[in-house]
Amino acid sequence: MIDCREAVRRMWAYLDHELADKPISEFEAHLETCQRCCGELDFNRHLREVVAAKSPALPVPPEVRSRLEILLAGGQNQLENPT
Ligand SMILES: [Zn+2]
Repeated sequence: MIDCREAVRRMWAYLDHELADKPISEFEAHLETCQRCCGELDFNRHLREVVAAKSPALPVPPEVRSRLEILLAGGQNQLENPT
């Protein structure tokens, strides 16, 4: 089973259909048990559609991805590393 950080990391590749069968099933298994990541997938899917509609030839800029991944993973880090 993968954790939320790994799920977020795979989310873009999942949306881009770049994942192999095993990572996909692990990712989907996580979503079934995690309401938080499930909401984030919907959000990211919607975001991607908006971006794609505006500029169909351009992928999501890498800096936008990085910022989103940091943002999405940020809250989880604190849960995983309580001090
Ligand atoms: Zn999760």
